[in-house]
Amino acid sequence: MSRLRLVFLGTSAAVPQKERFLSSLALQRENGEIFLFDCGEGAQYQMMKFNIKMQKITKIFFSHFHGDHYFGIFGLLHTMKQQGRTAPLAIYGPFGIKQLFTGIFSADENLGFNFPIDLFEITEEGFVCEGVDYRIFAKSVLHSVYTLAYAYIEKDRLGRFNKEKALAYKVPRGPKWRELQQGKAVLSSDNKVISPDMVLGKKRRGFKIVIGSDGLYDPEAFATFAAGADVLIMEATFSDEKTDLAREKLHSTARWSAKIAAKAEAKRLILTHISPRHKDDSLLTAQAREEFPEALVAYDGLEILLDRKELDREQM
Ligand SMILES: [Zn+2]
Ligand SMILES: [Zn+2]
Repeated sequence: MSRLRLVFLGTSAAVPQKERFLSSLALQRENGEIFLFDCGEGAQYQMMKFNIKMQKITKIFFSHFHGDHYFGIFGLLHTMKQQGRTAPLAIYGPFGIKQLFTGIFSADENLGFNFPIDLFEITEEGFVCEGVDYRIFAKSVLHSVYTLAYAYIEKDRLGRFNKEKALAYKVPRGPKWRELQQGKAVLSSDNKVISPDMVLGKKRRGFKIVIGSDGLYDPEAFATFAAGADVLIMEATFSDEKTDLAREKLHSTARWSAKIAAKAEAKRLILTHISPRHKDDSLLTAQAREEFPEALVAYDGLEILLDRKELDREQM
């Protein structure tokens, strides 16, 4: 499947609501592995409901340690163990993550995990980790505790292979085509060196997904971090009417988040972390859309599919 799948498992702020669980977002990559961003209470129920296979989770990233963003992790780990997980799990989060997990694990002596858990404490913004085709970066955000936003950025891929050019350079169909497509130089049938750039189109960019959490954002700095994101996820705890409260509590309004999306020239903006005060999202949607017309307020179970073939077509 050449699609990336984003699933909003929980979209409420602070306390659960009948229709909204607490913050958690799953990013399912094309190879099936899942990255989880925050794990609010009840996230594992939502995974069952919205078809996110918890054993496919390889990495979990925490934005900050307010209870509405991480209380679901302990139940999730317990279930992973009960299901016989052996695959390692990497957990990333701000300062305090080691203390937090060590404390819980030492208190519950029955917990004894049958799979390795690697804890990574992030103390400064910048590069976090990478795989063969992506990198993850963190940016700190002003909130009442140390809080991180994350960017999932795919590495550029080699350009499209031009068969006609390969034949014109006297490289016959077969293993040498594969080598060129893998970025290796080959010899033509008349013994000339043919380098990949002679037969490949320009490099193709991958997806960029930026996941913001709670915070009062610096618009300039965050727009740079989120520049050109295919999907930008931001919080929208408050409406315009509670602007002062948002500032005091170090949160954002729907409008502020939408202004950042516009400044960042993001392709899509999804707003989440919705206060129980907003029984319906029409006010938040209307205020956000005055700044960013494509803004959408998330709901539990909202699924965004990002089609790689479409992205490649845009770059032809
Ligand atoms: Zn929160
Ligand atoms: Zn918070």
